[in-house]
Amino acid sequence: MYGHAIVVTSLRSECRYVGDKALISRRRFIELGVVAGVGLKAVAATAKVKGSELSGEVPTIRSYVELGGTGLKISDISFGSSQSSDPDLVRHALDRGITYFDTAESYRFGTSEVAIGDGLRGVRDRVILASKTKAAANANRVEIMRALEGSLGRLKTDYLDVYFNHAVNDVARIQNEEWWEFIQLAKQQGKIRYCGMSGHGSQLVRCLDYALEHDLVDVILVAYNFGQDPDFLNRLKQSLHFSNLQPDLPRMLFKAKQKNVGVIAMKTLMGARRNDIRLYERDGNTFAQAAFRWVLSNPYVDGLVVSMTSKKDIDEYVGGSSASKLADYEIRLLDRYMALNGSRYCRHGCDLCADACPKGVEIAEVLRTRMYDVDYGNPDLAQTDYVALGSGASACVTCADQPCQNSCPVGIPISTWTRDAALRFS
Ligand code: SF4
Ligand code: SF4
Repeated sequence: MYGHAIVVTSLRSECRYVGDKALISRRRFIELGVVAGVGLKAVAATAKVKGSELSGEVPTIRSYVELGGTGLKISDISFGSSQSSDPDLVRHALDRGITYFDTAESYRFGTSEVAIGDGLRGVRDRVILASKTKAAANANRVEIMRALEGSLGRLKTDYLDVYFNHAVNDVARIQNEEWWEFIQLAKQQGKIRYCGMSGHGSQLVRCLDYALEHDLVDVILVAYNFGQDPDFLNRLKQSLHFSNLQPDLPRMLFKAKQKNVGVIAMKTLMGARRNDIRLYERDGNTFAQAAFRWVLSNPYVDGLVVSMTSKKDIDEYVGGSSASKLADYEIRLLDRYMALNGSRYCRHGCDLCADACPKGVEIAEVLRTRMYDVDYGNPDLAQTDYVALGSGASACVTCADQPCQNSCPVGIPISTWTRDAALRFS
């Protein structure tokens, strides 16, 4: 028997359509009723939290949302573990009311799964647990099952609530019959409850479209933040010369909602360069909380995961729980962040530079790995993902004429950064 936090959440939203594009209104009303049987002190708390440090109150999650049609209820802001492997942090997140824990076999070479397994010892039936494996287009069901069993062992559990095909950027990976036969078998054996795909690459929209069209997923985990949202960029592009990036992603989120597929957002902090923006934060209302509110105010997004690397960060992040309309000062904070970082953040899925390299360098993918090192301070993850790209950006080291330069509408210095990635990771 699975036990979950039971919270009543209802969303009423407005949207209108132009052509096939959903223009998403920013109205989201959440009615929160709490909760029986969870036993977590944080969930019982009702403190209204803004900035965790300044308020002096214990910050807690205040909203639990339904994950598509799965019947699972998850904290709207949830634990991402790509950059941590500390069971203490996991316990802290649990104490703050977080009930959804996201990991992957590749995160920190499996130690993130081990830490989550240790941190959640004794409370498995009160949380929702998700992990991932990168199943290749030619992977067979036996090896995928072996990967799942490895995750179950490290997580010290006999089932996962959601199992993702990780970082899918090639339709062939979700067309692999062996993956779907594995999913069917693992569900029959009670080893997984729901399946999904995660993605953040240049082919994300194509992969999502295929998976949703063929009813292949229960949940999707996608890179989505205010910097990719056409609504947001439309307001800014005149002054900052931005073009719309990822214009089809909102349509995919809408399509997922139509299909009753759960939608979880990641990479919501648009590069997470929080130091520069601290100067502009006021009264404990932080950039991160505003960025979360932006994402959660989209009625087609159920919740988000964010990498949590310290107790202080967790307290700040859960202070953004419970989506509501963004206040003007929060919009200004996001504007400011965009102005500071617009030309320093690659929107990895925008793909507008996809044909810029005659030597076939996967520019957006290379820049994503560089971001893991430079911005996230996670060289292990960066190195692992860079190596998975094959030759990566090695061609950039000797590329003389650099035709990719000036291919990025937001001004990313492509060849400088791809070459830098090659030198860092080679
Ligand atoms: S470098 Fe520019 S064009 Fe290329 S994916 Fe990043 S934001 Fe898009
Ligand atoms: S520097 Fe040359 S090899 Fe590297 S991405 Fe640009 S065009 Fe391709």
